[in-house]
Amino acid sequence: MMAPRWTSWTNANLGRRFYGCPNYKDRAKCCKFYLWHDPSLCDRGKEIVLELKGREKLLHKEATFWKRKALILKQNAVDFVEAGIIEENARLKKKVKGSGNIYTCNALP
Ligand SMILES: [Zn+2]
Repeated sequence: MMAPRWTSWTNANLGRRFYGCPNYKDRAKCCKFYLWHDPSLCDRGKEIVLELKGREKLLHKEATFWKRKALILKQNAVDFVEAGIIEENARLKKKVKGSGNIYTCNALP
């Protein structure tokens, strides 16, 4: 039986592919067979990959922060527009009250 290929995400072997037991993710069933598909990266390569991983994590954090910020701004904008509508509604009601009978039709004789 052909062993499936996996990708390692441990710091020592970031992105390095290997063939592993089909039960690799189930510790109880796994026979612990594995064979590297890719050669090991040199130390400088590992350093760079780790640094990029760190930057990716940071960018992900920033993206989450800005998404939350955008959501808050959107809610503030909705609240602002809503408050304006309520204010305008109150102003119009006052105006209608002040103009007497709102049911008067100018077309009637
Ligand atoms: Zn196995």
